Formats: sequence, C-alpha cells, structure tokens
Amino acid sequence: SREWHLVARPHGWPKSEDFALREAAVAAPAEGRILVRNKYFSVDPYMRGRMNDVKSYTPPFKLDHPMDGGAVGEVIASNAEGFSVGDHVLHGLGWREIADVPAKHAVKVDPDLAPLSAYLGVLGMTGLTAYAGLFDVASFKEGDAVFVSGAAGAVGSQVGQLAKLKGASRVIGSAGSDEKVKLLIEEYGFDAAFNYKNGPVRDQLREAAPDGIDVYFDNVGGDHLEAAIGALNVHGRATICGMIAQYNATEPTPGPRNMALIIGKRLRLQGMLVGDHADLQPKFVEEVAGWLASGELKYRETTVEGIEHGYDAFVGLLRGENTGKMIVSLV
Ligand code: NDP
Repeated sequence: SREWHLVARPHGWPKSEDFALREAAVAAPAEGRILVRNKYFSVDPYMRGRMNDVKSYTPPFKLDHPMDGGAVGEVIASNAEGFSVGDHVLHGLGWREIADVPAKHAVKVDPDLAPLSAYLGVLGMTGLTAYAGLFDVASFKEGDAVFVSGAAGAVGSQVGQLAKLKGASRVIGSAGSDEKVKLLIEEYGFDAAFNYKNGPVRDQLREAAPDGIDVYFDNVGGDHLEAAIGALNVHGRATICGMIAQYNATEPTPGPRNMALIIGKRLRLQGMLVGDHADLQPKFVEEVAGWLASGELKYRETTVEGIEHGYDAFVGLLRGENTGKMIVSLV
C-alpha cells in the first residue's frame, strides 16, 4: 500500500521535495482494528499548519511517517465487533491507500444516502464548520447581512447558502477568480460577489455592501479582515475560522490597522474550532441532508484522481485551484 510521508518541513510554500510517496507493508488487523481501502481522502488548509514543528491545537505531522486526515473507504478486513467487510467508514487516516484503523475512530457511513466524498465536505467536517461557525459562533439571525471570504471554497460556499436559506438580508462573497465570482451569484444565489484580485478588498466590499454587514465569516484574514472590521455595523460579529492568506508566510503578518473600531462598534470577533461543535452534528446532518435532497443547497467538489497526485491536490488547494471541496480520489 502506498502512503504519503512528510520528509522535510516546508519553509514558506510547500515544495514537492518535502513529500514522498512510499510503500508500506499491510498486515491483518489486530484486535479492535479494521483495514480500510480508502476511496477518497481530504486535503485541507489546516494541514499546512501541521507541517510546521510548532505546538498547536493538532500535533504536527511527524517526519518520515504517513500524514493523516479525513478519509472514507471500504472495510476489507475486520477484527472489531460491529464492522464487516464491505462496510463504508469515515475515519482519520487519509493520505494512504490502505488504512489500519482503530474501530473506535471509525464511523459507518451510508453510500446510498450521499456520494461517499460528501462525508468529507458538504456533509462532513467543512460542512459542520460552516454550520456551527455561522449559527453558533456568529449568532446569525434572520435579517443579518453576511460577508464571507473564501466564498467559492468548501466552507465558504456553504456559509453563504446557509445564510440565504435562513433569511439573510444580503449575502456577499469574495473569491480569487472571475469564474468563481460568477458561480457565487449564478449558482449559489449570493446577492453580490467580487474578485479580491481585481482591486482593494475595502473598496470592493464597500460597493457590494453599501449598508454595511452584520456578520463576517473569515476564512482568509489579512486585508479581508481589516476591510470587514471597517464594514461591520454596530454589534456586528465575526467568526474567525481561517486565515489562509498567511499559512505560508515566513514572517509574522501585520494585523488589521483599524482594531480601534471594535470599541465603538462593540464588535465581537470569535475564533472557532470545528471539533468543539460535535453536539451540533445530528441537527447539522438532518438540516443539510434535507436541503441537499430538496436541491436548495448546492455544492461542488474538485476531484484529483490518483494517490500519486496527493501533493498536487494539497498545493492546488492553497493556490485556489479548487472550487468547493478538494478531494483526492483513489477509485
Ligand atoms: P477552501 O475550499 O476554501 O480552499 C481554500 C481556498 O482558499 C482556495 O480555494 C483559495 O480560493 C483560497 N485562498 C488561498 N490563498 C488565498 C489568499 N491569499 N487570499 C484569499 N483566499 C485564498 O478550503 P476550506 O473550505 O477547507 O477552508 C476554508 C478556511 O476555513 C481555511 O482558512 C481553513 O483553514 C478554515 N477552516 C477552519 C476550521 C476550523 O475549525 N477553524 C475547519 C475547517 C476549515 P480563491 O481562488 O478564492 O483564492
């Protein structure tokens, strides 16, 4: 079975020499474990942080060990009660063809309810991030005007649509290409959208949200966050979900220059980690599955075929080559 190892810690942008696809032996599963043939694995922006040797909310990847992350696959051998050959499971040992998974870390999923890859995106970790980050962390309420950055990505495209479905007065998104901007308006029903590469975020946001915003969902940081602080109305809330603009930075990045506005506008900026919101999982799945079935919620995936392209998929994600969830397919 082949698996991706981190072999050197990237400085700045990851390079292909920092990674290696290596062969690993496969043995029968020990007591309490299952062998899973992965069909899809996820590449996610947070993995860039795990490539650095720093203490964080998830431990760093070890050099010369397989990387891990979300994956779905089929059980091919089981030494654990409750799991049979042929079952499909969601688990945390991606970046490899065959995973030897402790059964207690695997969750069965139904391939007839949704395409398997959806359990990594719209019905999975990124979907719950959007749901919890908007409804719980940002305390979204009907009538709010919402701005989301990274809006054509997995989390962002779902945030914008969830806000519309729950009665936002206006939803504004930013993304990195004119095609993505078109998609936001035409497919996802955003009221306004702009390409942040076409001009200063502050000016484009002001034009897109002449009456200001009540909620900002931050996936990007940097000038997006500064512009949003400027546009937020009194008692506005921001969910600080991600700051992808700085994940490859080699020097500390400057903060927003307008932080003093937080005082007078009584803003609330709150960080989030999706792992804290497992309690919302049942409600999230029920509501989102309903909107998917009715066609009210749309999603895209960008699928990179073949384990040998795992590195390309990851770097492509950081470069914005994806629309919606970036997935590596092994089928
Ligand atoms: P996406 O599907 O949004 O993919 C990443 C996107 O980021 C790219 O497609 C690209 O789109 C955009 N991007 C890359 N560089 C920049 C830049 N310099 N400025 C602006 N946009 C950029 O990924 P996810 O939906 O999985 O994640 C979105 C964010 O949410 C990330 O910041 C991630 O770290 C965070 N996150 C946080 C979680 C939490 O628990 N806190 C959980 C899950 C995700 P474009 O073409 O528009 O530039």
